[in-house]
Amino acid sequence: MPRPTTFADAVAPYPDARFVVLGVPFDRTTSFRPGARFGPDSIRQHSWNFESYDLETGIDLADVPVHDLGNTDEFGSASEMVESVRGEVAKIYADGKVPIVLGGDHACAPPCVEAFPSGGPSIGVLYLDAHLDFRASYLGDPRSHACSSRRMLERVGARNIVVLGVRSVSREEVDDNRSIGMPTVTAHEIARDGIEASVDRALGMLKTDRVYVSLDIDAIDPAFAGATGTPEPFGLTPRDVKLVLDRVAPRLVGFDVMEVSPPYDQGNTSALAARLVREAIVRVAASRRDR
Ligand code: MN
Ligand code: MN
Repeated sequence: MPRPTTFADAVAPYPDARFVVLGVPFDRTTSFRPGARFGPDSIRQHSWNFESYDLETGIDLADVPVHDLGNTDEFGSASEMVESVRGEVAKIYADGKVPIVLGGDHACAPPCVEAFPSGGPSIGVLYLDAHLDFRASYLGDPRSHACSSRRMLERVGARNIVVLGVRSVSREEVDDNRSIGMPTVTAHEIARDGIEASVDRALGMLKTDRVYVSLDIDAIDPAFAGATGTPEPFGLTPRDVKLVLDRVAPRLVGFDVMEVSPPYDQGNTSALAARLVREAIVRVAASRRDR
C-alpha cells in the first residue's frame, strides 16, 4: 500500500476546516505489547478504502472540510509528549475546530482533554475502554496509559467522565474508585441491558453540553479489533460504537482513537478505526446540518 500523507478526503486548508486530524506516533507507555506508534499512519492508509458518500445521512465526506496536520514529533518521554500534544490541540479548540487525534497509546488522550479551554463551558468525557485506566501511577509514571481516565478526571471532575465497556480492572483501582466515584457502564451491563439503554444511561450521566469521546480500540472485542496492545475478550461490537457516535454527535467537541497496533493487524482493526473516524465526522456534520 502506498503511504498516504493525509487522512482520506482531508483536503481542506486549515483555516477552512471544521475537523482537524492529528497523529501522535507515541507508544512508550504500552505495558504488554507495543506497536501503537504505527497507528496513525496505518489508520490513514486504511481510510482510503471507503467511499466518500454516506448512505445513511446523504452527506459526502468530500464536501466536509477536514484538514490533516500530519503527525507530531516523536518524544522520549510521556511528559514531553503530553506538553506538546496539549499545545497543538489547544490551538485547534481555540480556532473553533473539532480535533480528531489518532494514537498512539492511550497516554496520548489526556492532553487532548486538558487542552480544552478552561474558564468557559465545561467538558464531559465519554471514555470507551476494556480497562479502567485508573491507576494514580504505573511503573513510576503518572502519565502511563494505565492512568489516563484518572488524569482526565482530575481535569473535568468525577461527575463529568463515564467509562463505557470496561471489563478488566485491578482490585486497587476498584478500591480507589470507591471514594472517588467515577461512574462506569461495564461491558457486562451492556450485554445485559442492551447498547441503546446503556449509551443513553452513560450520556445521561454527563451533564455537560460538550462531550469529548476517547476510544481505546480495545473497548471493541478482539474478534473485531484484535490488533491492540492489551486485547480483552467480551467486548463491544463495532456497531455498538457506531451507535455511541451517532448518539453523542450533537454534543461532540473532540474525538480520539487510541491503541491500534498495526504489527498485529491483518487490516481489519485499522480499517475499523478509520471507519469510526469517518462515522464521527459524518455524524457531527449531520447533526450541525439538521439543527
Ligand atoms: Mn486505555
Ligand atoms: Mn484498554
